[in-house]
Amino acid sequence: MVRSEQVHKSFGLVPVLNGIDLTVRHGEVFCLVGPSGSGKSTFLRCINHLEKINAGRLYVDGQLVGYRQKGDKLYEMKEREVAFQRRDIGMVFQRFNLFPHMTALENVMEAPIQVKGERKADARARAEEMLTRVGLADRMKNYPAQLSGGQQQRVAIARALAMEPKLMLFDEPTSALDPELVGEVLDVMRGLAEEGMTMIVVTHEMGFAREVGDSLVFMDGGVVVESGHPREVLTNPRHERTQAFLSKVL
Ligand code: ADP
Ligand code: MG
Repeated sequence: MVRSEQVHKSFGLVPVLNGIDLTVRHGEVFCLVGPSGSGKSTFLRCINHLEKINAGRLYVDGQLVGYRQKGDKLYEMKEREVAFQRRDIGMVFQRFNLFPHMTALENVMEAPIQVKGERKADARARAEEMLTRVGLADRMKNYPAQLSGGQQQRVAIARALAMEPKLMLFDEPTSALDPELVGEVLDVMRGLAEEGMTMIVVTHEMGFAREVGDSLVFMDGGVVVESGHPREVLTNPRHERTQAFLSKVL
């Protein structure tokens, strides 16, 4: 579903990704962990072309991200094509970024109507279905300010799902939540995983990674330091940097 080949990214002269190689298989829960500043968010943003990579190749579902290939030449996609490509990728951030003046239902209906041109009745039906799926059937008419952080994040997940993505990116989805609200969001993510959604999850929740993850990559300094099955990497980290990091978060 995702293949990264020697992906490099710099901001100005500052290198942030220094040759990322990894593969995310269809239906896999892929956990990305590493210290702050190691390039995790930047990598996720490259996957949906919110950032342009400087070198390497990035494929989602077999398609080059942001570029068309003709012969051996690459052509940058126009913004419209990029937007089209991005429709298939759902993203959930640490901050939920819901529209404050819209109800939960309206937040979830918005993108299918605006981006896909869906009929309002269809968008509403799916939004209701998605909000029910994340356990918010009784909160559809609430505005974000009337919802807890955990509920808002579940609305954000429902909003991403309403676009029927084939890949979901989660960037520290529980980091901004009070501890007692983390579980309800992880439960929704666990449910998604069980339904077979392909997910890349940047998280410090090692319990989640261990129980739900199929693969775990430890990143530091813009490179993959080590990867493997989460239980293997978490119980038996081979590299000093992984050990040092895990001793702080576990
Ligand atoms: P992580 O998510 O692992 O904490 P990030 O991908 O957010 O790491 O950041 C990696 C590095 O890239 C950091 O040093 C950060 O300051 C830098 N960085 C991220 N985005 C930008 C940007 N838009 N402009 C300049 N530097 C950036
Ligand atoms: Mg980050």
